[in-house]
Amino acid sequence: MDAVITLRAFGDNFIYLVRYEPGQAIAVDPGEASGVLCALKEHDLTLTTILVTHHHYDHSAGISDLKKKTGCKVIGPDKRIPGVDQIVEGGQTITVDGLKIEVIPTPGHTQTSVCFLVCPFGDNPHGLLFTGDTMFIGGCGRVFETDMQTMYDSLRTLASLADDTLVYPGHDYTEENYRFALTMEPDNEAVKAQLARIQRNPTPPSTIAQEKATNIFIRANDAQVFAQLRRKKDVF
Ligand code: ZN
Ligand code: FE
Repeated sequence: MDAVITLRAFGDNFIYLVRYEPGQAIAVDPGEASGVLCALKEHDLTLTTILVTHHHYDHSAGISDLKKKTGCKVIGPDKRIPGVDQIVEGGQTITVDGLKIEVIPTPGHTQTSVCFLVCPFGDNPHGLLFTGDTMFIGGCGRVFETDMQTMYDSLRTLASLADDTLVYPGHDYTEENYRFALTMEPDNEAVKAQLARIQRNPTPPSTIAQEKATNIFIRANDAQVFAQLRRKKDVF
């Protein structure tokens, strides 16, 4: 049984359900409620908790409905998140019914953006990393509320996690990211192979090892190189 159920919203957003024993689930970045409610019913799960990586509408618009219908608790890094019950800060470790979750500080896309690392549990040996709009498969989010150095440092923080950590991003921009990457690193065989693979099977997760091989934003040698790439991608 997969620990993570992947749902889609608004075309390219991902919403995730992490299921843990017995029959409980955590939702990550629910931009919309109806798909989540359907999945909870279909898999016979009770929603206990919502984790929100940042305050943007497409990651939080489902919260009020889900809260009303399930009474779940909402955890996130910013008081701009509608319905947030517990404000967390990067560097904190929280527990949800015994499940250990590290809050990783990743400012850049927004001032308070975080990623959530759900530590291995049950028969799932890998950390599960929810990256919101900080890191995508083969890409990264736009830098709205900080400088480029801050975003670059956040991506390097993610690159330092265990190679086998499973990566679940907030959007599906994978194909576009790999096409852009090949204009910058035309000889990167790992990117070529991934592009071919995702054209057949476009769903997450990625891994930290895969991102280190194919994500040119993480591969950038310093913040200057990163900033150039980010500006080029903004108009790609
Ligand atoms: Zn966003
Ligand atoms: Fe978003």
